[in-house]
Amino acid sequence: MAAYRAAELGASVVLLEKTERVGTKILISGGGKCNITHAGPIEDVLKEFRPNEARFIRPACYRWTNEQAVAFLTDRGLRVYTRDNGRVFPVDQTAKDVVHILQSRLDEVGVETRLNTPVIGIDRDEHGVCGIRIAPPPTPSPRHDSFAERGLRNSPLHESLDSRGGVGGGVLIETRRVILAVGGSSYPKSGTTGDGYPWATSLGHTVVKVRAALAPIALTETKWRPYSGVALRDCILKARQNGKEVNRWRDDMLFTHFGVSGPTALGISREVAEAFENGPVTLEVDVSPDRTFESLTADLLTYAEKHPKRRVATYLDGLLPSRLVEEMLASAEIETETEFNKLSRTCRNKLVECLKGWKLGLVKDPMLDKGEVVAGGIALDEVDSQTMRSLKCPGLYLCGEALDVAGPVGGYNLQAAFSTGYVAGETAAGDLLG
Ligand SMILES: Cc1cc2nc3c(=O)[nH]c(=O)nc-3n(C[C@H](O)[C@H](O)[C@H](O)COP(=O)(O)OP(=O)(O)OC[C@H]3O[C@@H](n4cnc5c(N)ncnc54)[C@H](O)[C@@H]3O)c2cc1C
Repeated sequence: MAAYRAAELGASVVLLEKTERVGTKILISGGGKCNITHAGPIEDVLKEFRPNEARFIRPACYRWTNEQAVAFLTDRGLRVYTRDNGRVFPVDQTAKDVVHILQSRLDEVGVETRLNTPVIGIDRDEHGVCGIRIAPPPTPSPRHDSFAERGLRNSPLHESLDSRGGVGGGVLIETRRVILAVGGSSYPKSGTTGDGYPWATSLGHTVVKVRAALAPIALTETKWRPYSGVALRDCILKARQNGKEVNRWRDDMLFTHFGVSGPTALGISREVAEAFENGPVTLEVDVSPDRTFESLTADLLTYAEKHPKRRVATYLDGLLPSRLVEEMLASAEIETETEFNKLSRTCRNKLVECLKGWKLGLVKDPMLDKGEVVAGGIALDEVDSQTMRSLKCPGLYLCGEALDVAGPVGGYNLQAAFSTGYVAGETAAGDLLG
């Protein structure tokens, strides 16, 4: 988006992409369906971010709104629909179409895209940014010059092999304007390996500690492993530290071979990761969120009165996936075959306690690598939120997930990346062209 906007305004733009294609994260977004953005008033979209993050992205989100994000794609033929919960998706459920349109938009405005071109550093001098270093191409032989083959010898930017002692090595591309849009460090196979953080630091920026967000959570307890793939619908997953609630999220939860995933786990993961650094965190799940302890007890008593000869398990069948029934009975210390007329008051209370807060055990690891985004990144108070200019290094512009911004699931993160990218491109082009 940054490259597009800068080129649209007339700047000569080279997009350096480490992997073999652009938009890899978009391809895997929304389970391959791409939740493009979130519908509704921008203020409502902003409310879903932490207050300091919302303040930071507000000007950019007004400059390039969710409606503009949608129009940018639908103008080129993408058909989209909005789910009841406000999430916007392509009708044909394919992220490929989104990436295809973004790529063709880049082509339309003449962005030169170089794939398989890892950046390895950004140089600065006393005036600010003075160049980008890319990994050296395979040594050209007289009969095989890969740069010439790729048409890069006539690039709008002057390139020269580093002749100044090679602080960072590689090939130096001289330029006074760099937009850093390298994303975060989750899903490293998609190309995002946190490369931007050390560069930002070397250019004078502070990087706020990077932590998991929108990530699955690994548990130390292994007894859940056999239930991998089993989902609890509409439950509340809660995290606690020293008995105090850290966060909760209501939606579905999925058992995995390492712990828990699904919207609830993703929803609490950022706070879990933060608390985890200060000590042990435990998880528990309320499988009957609309009922109180008292109403569940009353319900159990009525059921027991009506069906004294039935096994307690039959009651749980209505509340839990059948594969989990035995496990919950075990947690409440009730034998599998126990009938209601044999259920003691203590065990009944234990069972209700399990339904309202089934202990899943200790968190082993909020899984940063597997998160949809990372929290943390380049500190927001060192970037001008109106322009995305670095306040530390002239000629540097910052946008997207590399910044210390992380929204919830729902199209918020792409919107934040699109909006900040658009503004970064606009400012960089304006500064370049005067
Ligand atoms: C599984 C998954 C599902 C998601 N689903 C959604 C969703 O449905 N909706 C939503 O809003 N958000 C979703 N997100 C989050 C969203 O994709 C990101 O927040 C967003 O893509 C960030 O955009 P960005 O441009 O800042 O970074 P990225 O999209 O990560 O792009 C950064 C690019 O920089 C390249 N790069 C990195 N290092 C270098 C280097 N050294 N040299 C050259 N190039 C480099 C990378 O290869 C990458 O192409 C999802 C994320 C994941 C992982």
